[in-house]
Amino acid sequence: MKRRDFIINSALTLTGAALFSGCKKTETQKAQAQVEKRKFMDIKTPLISLGCMRLPMRGDKVDMVELDKMVEYAMARGANYFDTAYMYVDGKSEIAIGEILKKYPRESFILADKCPAYLVNKREDSRKLFEEQLKKCQVEYFDNYMVHNINHNTISNYRNNDMYGELLKLKKEGKIKHLGFSFHGDPNMLREVIKEHKWDFCQLQINYLDWEVVNADELYKIAQEAKVPVIVMEPLRGGVLCDLPQKAKELLKQECPNDTQASFGLRWVASKPLVFTILSGMSNFQQLKENVDTFVNYKKMSEKELEVAKKIAGIIQSQGAIACTACKYCMEVCPRGINIPAIFGLYNVYKGSKQKNRNFMFVYNYNALDESTKADKCIDCGLCSKNCPQNLSIPKLLKEVEKELEIAKKEV
Ligand code: SF4
Ligand code: SF4
Repeated sequence: MKRRDFIINSALTLTGAALFSGCKKTETQKAQAQVEKRKFMDIKTPLISLGCMRLPMRGDKVDMVELDKMVEYAMARGANYFDTAYMYVDGKSEIAIGEILKKYPRESFILADKCPAYLVNKREDSRKLFEEQLKKCQVEYFDNYMVHNINHNTISNYRNNDMYGELLKLKKEGKIKHLGFSFHGDPNMLREVIKEHKWDFCQLQINYLDWEVVNADELYKIAQEAKVPVIVMEPLRGGVLCDLPQKAKELLKQECPNDTQASFGLRWVASKPLVFTILSGMSNFQQLKENVDTFVNYKKMSEKELEVAKKIAGIIQSQGAIACTACKYCMEVCPRGINIPAIFGLYNVYKGSKQKNRNFMFVYNYNALDESTKADKCIDCGLCSKNCPQNLSIPKLLKEVEKELEIAKKEV
């Protein structure tokens, strides 16, 4: 059995496949308060979207009963944006969300999908994959379509096979409404990619931890200067911001008693005006309800709350294995521009994380740092340590981080 046939077969025997007779009175038929929306080009998008990379599962199959309930709740409240990709849930995500969405009028939902750059080895591959994805999702067009995951490994596929040119043709044929890319490279690469073509949007990893500790602020600024609207992925940093250290939890409870850890992280992302939707992977109804309700009752973040986010990022950073406070004094003297606080920040989050994907997140986020600022470019001059108020032996610690990174890579 071919891979595609296998996937389709599996999806169609998923739990509750006979659900969709369309006879029941749906949530959409009842009047509900709606989620906050933002204008994006010719449409309005909900600030919160269902990222379909972590769907509810029963064993190795998508739990279609739960997913149906989730979509119905979201749609009734105007959270009608769904984001899938070729490889999500081992290829089952596109089929599952397509099967659920087919009971809704096509113009009532916004569907985003992505072309896996790593599978594009010749020019015609982009179109071939695209046509396959349309079939899997049972639609005639995608509202938003992206070159998926441009990074150091995939950029040559994207450029050498003119993925932009091929996808632009599909846009002209009306099969793609808006064309963008999702990105996991470094800031210099983002500058280049954004300048190369006329993009409708880009998808970036932005959250309050990466903003303070790594380089999410820089990525956002690049998009802002180029006037390219942003979709945000990993708003809760792969779950890290829903599993805060005790001290940070207490601070949040004291300063923002009406927020959960998730709602606080999502509201922080929404404070960035260039962001037109936030993707959050949700694997059960409760998570979806909490996220959707956050944006039904949306309250803009105050200056005071933004300060709390900074403090929480500092707590996460300082409670890690390396007592770095991200003051950046070391960077003022480093002749090689090594991004020491970002490297230590990523390491600390990795060491403190209990998430299953901690190795992956560590490697992935480290790869997204600017090449010239990584630990291997350190020349061991020791100037940084003399400027560090925490008296850290920085060159030695950088070597330790590198060692740990190699171990994490083997486990990804
Ligand atoms: S030891 Fe490395 S990190 Fe420190 S200042 Fe010198 S080059 Fe920069
Ligand atoms: S000077 Fe020390 S504490 Fe400050 S950012 Fe550099 S390593 Fe961290």
